[in-house]
Amino acid sequence: MTLETDVLVIGSGAAGLTFALEASRNLRVLLVTKNEIRESNTRYAQGGIAAVLHLQDDYRQHIADTLTAGAGICDEEAVKVLVQEAPARIRDLIRWGVEFDRDPEKGLRFAREGGHSRSRILHVGDLTGKAIEEAMVQRVLKSPAIEIHEREMLVDLVVRDGHCYGALLLGPEGILKPVFSRATFLATGGAGQLFSRTTNPDIATGDGVAVCHRAGAELQGLEFFQFHPTAFARHGAPAFLISEALRGEGARLLDPRGIPFMENYHSMGDLAPRDIVSRAIYDVMFRHEADHVFLDISHRSRAELERRFPFIHQSCAAHGIEIDREPIPVSPAAHYTCGGVKTDIDGRTSISGLYASGEVAQTGVHGGNRLASNSLLESVVFAYRAAVHTDRLIHFLFKGREKGFRQLLDRGIPWNREEGVPPDAQEIGDLRQRLRDLMWRHAGVIRTDQGLHEGIGKLAPLEARVQRLLQSCSWSISLLELRNLIILGGLVLEAALAQPHSVGCHFSQDRPPLVKPPPGPV
Ligand SMILES: Cc1cc2nc3c(=O)[nH]c(=O)nc-3n(C[C@H](O)[C@H](O)[C@H](O)COP(=O)(O)OP(=O)(O)OC[C@H]3O[C@@H](n4cnc5c(N)ncnc54)[C@H](O)[C@@H]3O)c2cc1C
Repeated sequence: MTLETDVLVIGSGAAGLTFALEASRNLRVLLVTKNEIRESNTRYAQGGIAAVLHLQDDYRQHIADTLTAGAGICDEEAVKVLVQEAPARIRDLIRWGVEFDRDPEKGLRFAREGGHSRSRILHVGDLTGKAIEEAMVQRVLKSPAIEIHEREMLVDLVVRDGHCYGALLLGPEGILKPVFSRATFLATGGAGQLFSRTTNPDIATGDGVAVCHRAGAELQGLEFFQFHPTAFARHGAPAFLISEALRGEGARLLDPRGIPFMENYHSMGDLAPRDIVSRAIYDVMFRHEADHVFLDISHRSRAELERRFPFIHQSCAAHGIEIDREPIPVSPAAHYTCGGVKTDIDGRTSISGLYASGEVAQTGVHGGNRLASNSLLESVVFAYRAAVHTDRLIHFLFKGREKGFRQLLDRGIPWNREEGVPPDAQEIGDLRQRLRDLMWRHAGVIRTDQGLHEGIGKLAPLEARVQRLLQSCSWSISLLELRNLIILGGLVLEAALAQPHSVGCHFSQDRPPLVKPPPGPV
């Protein structure tokens, strides 16, 4: 059966849900997501969402902080849009039922995180993403204009003569089906699964970027992969995030002897930008031949920590660490994909009819490195703008393309990969792990030219094996994810080699730092 819709939305995190809600005011929306609807990076966001809403804060300050964290290579126009439209989007979230933490008398409670010169982070304990995701999902489920397909995966885009007419999907029953749409919105999120140590869930496999690469869309900034300095570090335990908000509440980073060290590396100390803290931790680990450092918040009472950081408190306790009594073992982990599919400030990609926002996109707001709590914000601000743009211009954009669209609808597209034996799950798992180890080793926190070249060399046999599996086996979500991860791995390694400087979260021992003047007045 051939499906048809006004707008096809791929992904159900903050960006996909925001777009779906806004576009569904006037358009029919088909929302496709490869797991269950709530599964996304959004759901795991802890610290919060940044916005200038406090009387003692101002836009210029948030803009300056974002530009500084971005190492001077942000797109300033996009940053201004991000910051100036933040309050309106926060009001939407509150209207939709997100209950940000408040002080009984003072109103909204603002936290501070690394790289922010003011307290401006709104949060719901340390479960902010879950609260946002849930409020939006509830609204989407009630909308009669939004049809939802769970456990359905975007395989490829249907692009003819530079226009996107929809996508090829892999359904839960393993069957490939085309969907034709007048506009397509990509919100497939990031790619933390590319690295063996990551805070991202299993779904974060960079599908959108790999699909866009195959479709010929412009990509940008893939060398800028952010490594969060503080993920839980204990053998056999997952590298779950220990939010920066702990340092905002006074937690200190300690070396293996228990001595604070961040003052030796940056004037902002424990609240320096993430790339600087990650490299400082690496340096300390190297000097002490240790595989982790410590983060200490034990000066706070158990009751306070249970209230403010329920997730971190419980998760650490489950792995034997009582955070009100002892320091938490931490080390860096892959966290955020700063680069991606290049878009303008209305979410338009280089392919007409194809929009993208959220972590899959490269709007230019993060430049060389993302400021904490700016990514949920980026997702909602730019997905909203993309939806408004689509709604206004869809008929204009689509004009003259009805015939091509009808022909595609009538003839369909001959893709048939249901045949063949199912791929061996164990082999796919092993290949995925080999890729992730390779990327961590060769394209991690500290890079070298030799390491990047070696990484490219090691990628080739994995690529060849996956090509053979694609030809001989029926397609499954895990096989297609592996294909996408390998493509993206190659793109990240190539982008890192092509970058002449060490800048932002891309640091190479063989490349000089990019020296740019500090941002001027805004
Ligand atoms: C542990 C953690 C903590 C974080 N904390 C914060 C924070 O405090 N503040 C902040 O601003 N940011 C934070 N971030 C980053 C932030 O959560 C993400 O950048 C943001 O949520 C991205 O939203 P998104 O909608 O672009 O993508 P996601 O929320 O990742 O959603 C992507 C969606 O696309 C679907 N999908 C992917 N590929 C396909 C495909 N091929 N076919 C169909 N569907 C597909 C996925 O299943 C998912 O539904 C955190 C991230 C993590 C992992």
